[in-house]
Amino acid sequence: MKEDYYEILGISKDASSAEIKKAYRKKAIEFHPDKNPGDAKAEEMFKKAAEAYEVLSDPNKKARYDQYGHQAFDGAGGFSGGGMNMEDIFSQFGDIFGGAFGGGGGFSGFSGFGGGGQRRMKGSNLRIRVSLTLEEIANGVEKKIKVKRKKQAQGTTYKTCTTCNGSGQVTRITNTILGRMQTSSACNVCGGSGQIIDSKPPNADANGMLMTEETISVKIPAGVVDGMQLKVSGKGNEAPGNGIAGDLLVAIEEKVHPTLQREGDNLHYDLYISFSEAALGTSKEIDTVTGKVRIKIDEGVQSGKILRLRNKGIPSINGYGSGDLLVHVNVWTPKSLSKEQKEFFEKMANDPNFIPKPETDDKSFFEKVKDMFS
Ligand code: ZN
Repeated sequence: MKEDYYEILGISKDASSAEIKKAYRKKAIEFHPDKNPGDAKAEEMFKKAAEAYEVLSDPNKKARYDQYGHQAFDGAGGFSGGGMNMEDIFSQFGDIFGGAFGGGGGFSGFSGFGGGGQRRMKGSNLRIRVSLTLEEIANGVEKKIKVKRKKQAQGTTYKTCTTCNGSGQVTRITNTILGRMQTSSACNVCGGSGQIIDSKPPNADANGMLMTEETISVKIPAGVVDGMQLKVSGKGNEAPGNGIAGDLLVAIEEKVHPTLQREGDNLHYDLYISFSEAALGTSKEIDTVTGKVRIKIDEGVQSGKILRLRNKGIPSINGYGSGDLLVHVNVWTPKSLSKEQKEFFEKMANDPNFIPKPETDDKSFFEKVKDMFS
């Protein structure tokens, strides 16, 4: 049974939108993960409150919820609940924590506490994608990435917030049916930082910030995997005042290689050889992530044979060795034959050398499989 959204926020069903917002703000501060590091229960409450606010702050969703309860959001197109991630939640905060530093968004809420109970604003994280070739992944690469990020404008000055006298907190005493209650919450004039802007350059925004474009060098270690995310600390948006800059999150994308297929740290290569090459033996040039290499194919090679080139795969991201390159031999059977060729093969059809004898192969099928994964 899902908990009632009103109960989660601790409000009555006839709460005004201002009261809903206020109640959520209080819960969000109380259960904020920065304030409760490693506390799974607090995180759960934080998410529940966000979900409740998501519904109750939207007049349409609220009306549906009031009429049908949680069932209103089950099924297609509904708000399935429990599905909010931290990012969604933090993106609400521009709206919720709009004080002197709010409005423009760009902050992911608070991070930690400074001296005297002040909160330091935290700049939001930036996300970018980097597309890498298999060769770059195998060898590691340094990428120069252009990033648009908010930075504090030079010359911005701050003064102590007069509403909270720089403490970042305001204490309120309210009369409830349970008696007088003292609650303290972040000052909504300074957003809890204890400071407000004194002066700023004309080109800066209301928070004393400037949008800048910067080229950031990102070292990508060998062995990264598609979908992996690297963090460059402090290279996200900066925050006003004595705030902490967010991080730059670099999502790795792997480009499709024309001839090599990756499977973990191993690589696969499909080699096609002719009928004659299989019978007579040959040597072939193949692609590897460190350039082309020539490999020898023994005479009498069977289609399906796998040749293992040790350590020619992708280095392990943990630094323990490298994968292998597995070359799959495919014998190409001609699709059309001339009259003479047909006669030749007909003549050979019953030749003992042309009759398959898989059991005379030096290794059994199971030994071959065992070999592949050893
Ligand atoms: Zn204040």
